[in-house]
Amino acid sequence: MEPPGAGGINSNECENVSSKKEMSEEFEANTMDYLVDLPFATVDIKDVCEITDVPEINLERSEENERNNKDQAKKRKKKQKDYQPNYFLSIPITNKEITEGIKILQNAIIQQDQRLAEAMSRDGSFHVTLLVMQLFSEDEVNVGIDALLELKPFVEEILQGKPLTLPFEGVDTFRNQVGFVKLAEGDHIKPLLEIADTAKRTFQEKGILTGENTTFKPHLTFMKLSKAPWLRKKGVKKIDPKIYEKFISHRFGEEMVHCIDLCSMLKKKQSNGSYHCESSIVIGDKNGGEPDDAELVRLSKRLVENAVLKAVQQYLEETQNKNKPGDGSSVKTEEADRNGTDSDNNRN
Ligand code: AMP
Repeated sequence: MEPPGAGGINSNECENVSSKKEMSEEFEANTMDYLVDLPFATVDIKDVCEITDVPEINLERSEENERNNKDQAKKRKKKQKDYQPNYFLSIPITNKEITEGIKILQNAIIQQDQRLAEAMSRDGSFHVTLLVMQLFSEDEVNVGIDALLELKPFVEEILQGKPLTLPFEGVDTFRNQVGFVKLAEGDHIKPLLEIADTAKRTFQEKGILTGENTTFKPHLTFMKLSKAPWLRKKGVKKIDPKIYEKFISHRFGEEMVHCIDLCSMLKKKQSNGSYHCESSIVIGDKNGGEPDDAELVRLSKRLVENAVLKAVQQYLEETQNKNKPGDGSSVKTEEADRNGTDSDNNRN
């Protein structure tokens, strides 16, 4: 026996399908509003919000169904919010040849449609996302930092002392919503996928919730419509492939990967436009094992913090000892008496 709705669609189903489509579009538009400027690599809006759990059967349009649909939409919205990642592992893209090439591409697009200027990623924030995750407290951020440090030897093992160079070539989109520069095919793909996979495992083993719904597709985003949700209301619902056709096989250049950063999606960006970075690991020993400037700053900051902490601890211990009856000072006096000395005498 054929399952309901298997052989062709009747008018009722058509109505349901189109109302579902409308609902899906409306829901997607709302979601777009919510997702302004957030970089996710593996969490695709579609994965989180796609209406796949509504069976394709002829539903009677009753009030109860309407209510159910609303309830489901609410649940999906809540689920989507619950899955919202707020941190990501980033490979920053800093090679001027690439970033200048992207700016030329962005300007060429803006020349064709001024409105799209608002959808462009800013210089300084170009990156390849390796992993997205949720870190809600300072403690969780610290666990994330530990996981990143643990990742370093694994990355070294994967790379076996060879540099990781990423060549960028051509342009594509995710569902005509996110414009990105493609990673060219080649030997770099295998180690990069391995690094992403190992990162995911390392972070998950520490109990961190990572985005895991789509297959990792490394890409370099240069625009996304979700950055300017109001464009949808102005009729800009898709990125038309025509506007980037001249760059379809353009070679943007190669990035020599020198670090992996743990970045916040929500904290204020740095003055150079890059994401707020909690911690970073250096890849490929670009200075022959010497820490780079950023690492030195972080190390010295840690040293100062530790020294201050130690001094405060010592001070607290000393004041506590002083206030205790029969404390260290009386012991000292007894000792001094035994030795025929007095602590005060030492000052003379
Ligand atoms: P990012 O480059 O990490 O800032 O990601 C930009 C956008 O690309 C995100 O908002 C995701 O919705 C989307 N995205 C990332 N990876 C994929 C994928 N594999 N499939 C579809 N969309 C993706």
